Amino acid sequence: CKRIVIKIGTSSLMLADGSVNYQTIDRLAYVLTVLRNQGKEIVLVSSGAIGVGLNRLNLPHRPKSIPEQQAVASVGQAELMNLYTRFFSHYNQIVGQILMTLDIVQFPESRRNAVNAFEQLLKMGIIPIVNENDAVSVEELDHQTKFGDNDRLSATVAEIISADLLIMLSDVPGFYDKNPTTNPDAVLFHTLHAVTDKEMALAGGNGSKFGTGGMATKLKAAKRILKNKQQMVLTQAADPTVLFDILAGKEIGTYFVK
Ligand code: ADP
Repeated sequence: CKRIVIKIGTSSLMLADGSVNYQTIDRLAYVLTVLRNQGKEIVLVSSGAIGVGLNRLNLPHRPKSIPEQQAVASVGQAELMNLYTRFFSHYNQIVGQILMTLDIVQFPESRRNAVNAFEQLLKMGIIPIVNENDAVSVEELDHQTKFGDNDRLSATVAEIISADLLIMLSDVPGFYDKNPTTNPDAVLFHTLHAVTDKEMALAGGNGSKFGTGGMATKLKAAKRILKNKQQMVLTQAADPTVLFDILAGKEIGTYFVK
């Protein structure tokens, strides 16, 4: 695997009390820098703008109105990139920011421009950090204008830059036959060659306090990855050095492959 997209969810970047998980950010910066120095092309899709924004603005939970959410995302995205820039710079790694909106991939010209930006950053040894542009992109009722969740965004990024592998880092070790958070007897799927209605039915509703995805959006992303004959690993972010093991071919989390 040479070109790898790594997606980290809000639940892994924030602690239960709503503060930022600096340890995870630091370890992620270290591991991704090592992989980059080994010659891998690394793209990071990071959630967390709303979570970090809520923390920065001292708000207990996500505001109801959309404009207020946009303001929180605007503050949080800048703060999040500030954190990444600082932590990555400890390891001498430069990062860039790419904010996506759904229309960018819907129009061939803007899509080509986005791909060019990724290619140039990777060529320069820079790690692009990607998120949806939540400050300006808003869920519409009658037509789709938003990715809506970063699971979908990360599959789209993997698709447009023809990545070899998508690694999703979440707060659970993988995909189980039932929600492991509430069912201690849940059994992990080690490998899946397809995502059908049967698997979709095993993914409970929405995810954590800050997250918007849950398991369903991760399975949908996996389905798309398989359709494109790409590969995906879903595992937990608690210890990002797990990325070394995954790339060493160890059986970790749930591996989606045709
Ligand atoms: P992230 O913030 O990493 O995107 P989410 O919190 O949105 O993560 O989604 C992961 C959550 O999905 C888990 O914490 C778990 O509660 C839930 N979940 C529901 N069904 C399943 C399942 N079958 N296997 C694993 N996790 C599941």
